[in-house]
Amino acid sequence: MARVALVTGGSRGIGAAISKALNDAGYTVAANYAGNDEAAAKFTAETGIKTYKWNVADYDASKSGIAQVESDLGPIDVVVANAGITRDAPFHKMTPEQWHQVIDTNLTGVFNTVHPVWPGMRERKFGRVIVISSINGQKGQFAQVNYAATKAGDLGIVKSLAQEGARAGITANAICPGYIATEMVMAIPEEVRNKIIAGIPAGRLGEPDEIARCVAFLASDDSGFINGSTISANGAQFFV
Ligand code: NDP
Repeated sequence: MARVALVTGGSRGIGAAISKALNDAGYTVAANYAGNDEAAAKFTAETGIKTYKWNVADYDASKSGIAQVESDLGPIDVVVANAGITRDAPFHKMTPEQWHQVIDTNLTGVFNTVHPVWPGMRERKFGRVIVISSINGQKGQFAQVNYAATKAGDLGIVKSLAQEGARAGITANAICPGYIATEMVMAIPEEVRNKIIAGIPAGRLGEPDEIARCVAFLASDDSGFINGSTISANGAQFFV
């Protein structure tokens, strides 16, 4: 039987590319999203992949959304915690609301996504946890104290989960994309975006598919001894 994969934020941007790559690789995929019903409906019409709406920042909503996915599609073998937001501001202007929104979605959202599927993975002695972090969690970023904190936190989460899950056949790894051509990045003012591109040795933004292919590898049986690792996919944009 096909393995089941859940991708949070799986109907747009990098998440949509991940959902499609896993679907193409033979997984039965559930794509979660937050509220953009139009994009989700379009995504399902184009791909045939089922979408499920819940807010990853809400534990109870995540738990019941995941229970619905499992009742529809079967136990989740692969979970990709991809949903994320930015609420940028220089630290002296950052509001507690901006801090909490990003922490709740990007960091607590990972807990809320993985925690409900973890006992089943332990019981079945197989699981793949893949968290989409960011280069900005590795190097920090002006006006992203909140976002960088969550993305650095992801790396601690996977290293710890890896140690807890290893004997139960579960791996947990993170991918740190550099700048990828999605709505999140296209929303950056063009002048700033061009400066960012000038600082990428590859001379271009990454494509969502380039992250999706890393996820497909980490989800596969071939990656079984890779556990607690971070894959950087950033066009040689080293951070010193
Ligand atoms: P997009 O803004 O294009 O898409 C975000 C997706 O996440 C949407 O499907 C959205 O749902 C969903 N989402 C947002 N908040 C929630 C929530 N509370 N509950 C459930 N779903 C939610 O983002 P990207 O594709 O650019 O980013 C995906 C991930 O990759 C993020 O974690 C981001 O931090 C990370 N990343 C992105 C980089 C980039 O250059 N783009 C670089 C490094 C990391 P809806 O459609 O309903 O709004």
